[in-house]
Amino acid sequence: MPKKIVVIEDEPDIIGLVTLYLEKEGYRVTAVRDGVKGFQHLRTEPPDLLILDIMLPEMDGLEICRRVRADSKTAALPIIMLTAKGEESDKIVGLELGADDYLVKPFSPKELVARVKALLRRAERREAAPDRYVYGDLVLDPVRHEVRLKGLEIVLTAKEFGLLERLLKECGRVLTRDALLDKVWGYDADVISRTVDVHIRRLREKIPLLKDRIQTVKPFGYKLKEEP
Ligand code: CA
Repeated sequence: MPKKIVVIEDEPDIIGLVTLYLEKEGYRVTAVRDGVKGFQHLRTEPPDLLILDIMLPEMDGLEICRRVRADSKTAALPIIMLTAKGEESDKIVGLELGADDYLVKPFSPKELVARVKALLRRAERREAAPDRYVYGDLVLDPVRHEVRLKGLEIVLTAKEFGLLERLLKECGRVLTRDALLDKVWGYDADVISRTVDVHIRRLREKIPLLKDRIQTVKPFGYKLKEEP
C-alpha cells in the first residue's frame, strides 16, 4: 500500500512541485487548498503524513496543527510545516504546537522528499512500540520497569521513569511542559509546570549520559536529541 500524504497549501506552484516529486517516489498525494477543508479531510481520511503551509485561507496552519495534535485520531500524525522566509516566529510556534519538522520556502523538492522519508521511518519505529527502548548505553524496559546504563540499574521514581519513557518514545521531538504533564502526571494532577523542570534536572543528575542530550527548548519544554 502506498503511503498517503496530504498537502494543505494554497500556492498552486508549490502544490504542483510537491505532488510531482512525491508521486515520483510512489506516494499517494492529495492536495487541499484551504485550511478548513484540509482539516476536515484529515479527520475523515487520516493520511500517513501531512505537509502543512502556515499562511492559508479560512484556517491557518498553526491552528490546524494544534487541532490535529488535540484529536486522538490524528495526534500522532507526522507533520512537516512550510514557512515563508522571515517567519522565524511561526517556525517556533509550529514546533511548539507539535510539528515534527519544517522547511523554509523556497525549499528544494529533494530536501522535502528526504525529510518525508525520515519522518515516515520514525513514525514506523514509533508504531512498532518496542518492548524496550535503547538509547546509546541506556536501556529502558517498560515491562520490567527497569532502567540500566551500561548494564547497571538506575533507580528512578515512578514519575522520573514515566518522563524518561516519554522522552525516549518521542525522541527528536519537542515536548512542551504541558504535554509532559498531561502524559506523565495526567490531566487532573495538581502540579505546576515547574514540576517538570525539577524532574528533568533529577534525570540529568541521575543519568549523566542525558545531561546534554535532554535539551531545553526555551520557553516551551524539552527534547531528547536523536540517538548519537
Ligand atoms: Ca500560503
